[in-house]
Amino acid sequence: MAYLALYRQHRPKKLDEIVEQSHIVRALSNAITEQRLSHSYLFAGPRGTGKTSVARILARSLNCEQGPTLQPCGVCASCKSIDQGTSMDVREIDAASNRNIDDIRNIRQNMQYMAESRYKIYIIDEVHMLNDYAFNAFLKTLEEPPPNTLFILATTEAHKIPLTILSRCQRYDFRRISTKGIMSQIQKISKQESLEISAEALKTISGRAEGCMRDALSLLDQCLSFAGNHIELDDVLAVLGSVDQKTLICSIEAMIYGDIPKLLQLLDLIEAEGKDLVQFLRDLLLQLKEWLTEKPPIDTLLPEQIVELLQVLSTTEWEMKQSTQPRLSLELAMFRAGDQYRAGDRLSVLESKIRALEALSKISNSTEDPSPVDQGNPKQAVMSVEVKSPEVRKPEQVEQVVPISKESDPAKEEEKSAKPLRNDEIRMETWDQILMQVFREKISAHAILKQGKVYRRNGNTLEVLFQNDFHKKIMEKEDNKQAIERALKHHLGEVTRFVPLLPRDIQVLSSAEPLQTQEDWLIQAAIQWAGKDKVEIASPQPKENQNQKG
Ligand SMILES: [Zn+2]
Repeated sequence: MAYLALYRQHRPKKLDEIVEQSHIVRALSNAITEQRLSHSYLFAGPRGTGKTSVARILARSLNCEQGPTLQPCGVCASCKSIDQGTSMDVREIDAASNRNIDDIRNIRQNMQYMAESRYKIYIIDEVHMLNDYAFNAFLKTLEEPPPNTLFILATTEAHKIPLTILSRCQRYDFRRISTKGIMSQIQKISKQESLEISAEALKTISGRAEGCMRDALSLLDQCLSFAGNHIELDDVLAVLGSVDQKTLICSIEAMIYGDIPKLLQLLDLIEAEGKDLVQFLRDLLLQLKEWLTEKPPIDTLLPEQIVELLQVLSTTEWEMKQSTQPRLSLELAMFRAGDQYRAGDRLSVLESKIRALEALSKISNSTEDPSPVDQGNPKQAVMSVEVKSPEVRKPEQVEQVVPISKESDPAKEEEKSAKPLRNDEIRMETWDQILMQVFREKISAHAILKQGKVYRRNGNTLEVLFQNDFHKKIMEKEDNKQAIERALKHHLGEVTRFVPLLPRDIQVLSSAEPLQTQEDWLIQAAIQWAGKDKVEIASPQPKENQNQKG
């Protein structure tokens, strides 16, 4: 017997076998059991989401000799003839190749013959392809349908259908099938067919189908012919014409670190293997998108940087298709994306320099004024000075402000030597790392946590100050607390408790004067160093507030 494609073998035969689309299944099931059928239905939605399958199931359910029933028997003459496409009462017409007025006239003629079964059913696929004359002729049929005649129109482009037709149909919109839905269907089939598919391979097949079950099962079919009954990720990638995981990650590394010779070499290799560069770009984008939700193997890559890379690369496919030299377009886009990534890196160097300045200001201040009152963590004590980021982000302007990026190491050392760490303090970088881990685990907790200021480290507890009761309450929620405490444990080891505080929880100490001079000094220093137009004083706080923190 000839091989039958998987998607035809495993086509659903009853409404309850339809994957997802529960809104449609429920409405049609009720219509069948309560015998309240419309005489025309419109099934709209992307390809491979089950429109034709549901149309055929509806026909079987209505015309089965045991019916109308939700469980068509599948063995009676009517069910069998529908399955084989030989039923005289259920006709499938492809409007893409039967789009003229004569084709509609044929239908009208055919409608005059009595039905052998309960209903005469016309399934018109891709109905938007009918031409204007055909639509007009069809409209007349819809206006005065003969009894026991049912039209099921299916389309991927409902907006191309005239309103006069639309208004006479009961419309059902099919949704793309979720990756999860496709995965579980493939798992079901692989059990029935005793196939072994690795988890990674399953994920890739389901993801690449983009909501289209037919594509997923066709891809699975291709993998079966390629690799036999045991399918691994590399088999799927080979069938897709995609590069392997290692090459993909190496290319991303070469891109962000600006290793142009290596990047060009990798692109040579991909081309030499006969792989399509547009497909490579799509894989690259998919990979970056995946890293937004799971930890990337490249440690230095932060979520906001991934978003920037995606922004630069998202228009590249269009550029490649317009260009006579698609490879050049790809190369330029990848260089551009890498540049942007490194520009962001230079910005963080700038930020660390500002912090170093803050720390220095604290040292100089405390030697000038040996006040017994502790001024606390410099991060809390000084007014925050923010460099206007939109201006600095442009690479050419970054060059003006930061001499060369090699300076990053001295800057860090300067910061370390300038800021002796007390027992109740934590390093700024450590706090940033904690924030980043919380960001990865729970974005909503991160949004509030980053607004807090570290008050002090107290034994195994980290106390963080929040502006208002609302923020404090959110931070006290068990799941937020747990996410934060996991990050604390990871980065601070022995610190395992997180305690949010309000200013009123802290004893008021007076240190107004030293703070004032310190602010002035820092602002002067920042202006001297970065230029007046690049320094903006952000959110100056009333003195009372700062006193409380001191
Ligand atoms: Zn039957």
